[in-house]
Amino acid sequence: MSSRLSLTVLGSGGPIASQGRVSAGYVLSIDGKPRLLVDAGGGSFERIGRSGLDISSLEQILLTHLHIDHTADLSAVIMHLYMGDGKRPIAITGPTGRPGNDAAPENASPQPGVREFVRLLFGTRGAWRYMNTFEGFGITVRDTPSDVSELAIYSIPVDRVLEDLDVSVYAVAVPHGMMPSVAFRVDCGAESVVFSGDISASTASFIALAKNCSMLVHDFALPERDVPHGNLHAKPSAVGYTAQQSAAKRLLLSHLMPPMESELAQSLTIVRREYDGPVEVASDLKAYEIGA
Ligand SMILES: [Zn+2]
Ligand SMILES: [Zn+2]
Repeated sequence: MSSRLSLTVLGSGGPIASQGRVSAGYVLSIDGKPRLLVDAGGGSFERIGRSGLDISSLEQILLTHLHIDHTADLSAVIMHLYMGDGKRPIAITGPTGRPGNDAAPENASPQPGVREFVRLLFGTRGAWRYMNTFEGFGITVRDTPSDVSELAIYSIPVDRVLEDLDVSVYAVAVPHGMMPSVAFRVDCGAESVVFSGDISASTASFIALAKNCSMLVHDFALPERDVPHGNLHAKPSAVGYTAQQSAAKRLLLSHLMPPMESELAQSLTIVRREYDGPVEVASDLKAYEIGA
């Protein structure tokens, strides 16, 4: 039987513009129809067009966190949906906000959660308030805890269409410096894809989320050695450890930044030292059948 679930990588890069990779974005299709969008970094919109995917069937947008390289094209995607025949509300799920963070003095101010973020963009006093004049426009915002001391796995409500397709969505809070961040697991029948989003370390709760998944899509931003911003992204050894401990069936490495590109071979060797399953480096616009 062929797989029902497939993943299209829109963007396998991070916050630095590069020739072959745009910022983070992924489409999950079920029975050939795009249903979930995970992150919408800069370039996702262009990649959607280039991929030929008809995203009018989207039901849920999942945002791992609100860094620009994961959200810059959200508004462009929303606009696209309401210029088409959609004319129905779309659900956006992301992390809760966080109060001021004394542990990160360079970024001590409170960070918005997905509710405030959507309100600032599309609320009646928001920057793009004009979207409210579009027929059928509506965003159902759901948030999920981003406090990493919360170890629980949270179930994210899904709407009827996804429920009928046997889809379940789960999330855990993950560490990513000052930014409230979550990782997602999407199950469709027996198949599953887990997205680490940006994650600074391997954690027990993320390993639990990824347990036995069909594919683990993991942050692979920077090499093992100390580099600027290295405290925000898991090192290759931690990525391999997480994949092995979670018994992920496949590992797809994504969110590559320029220092990683130039040290890719060594970094992959480190991952393979820890993880004995199949490893691939993501490419923009490549589609992956899950579990077939
Ligand atoms: Zn990022
Ligand atoms: Zn980030």
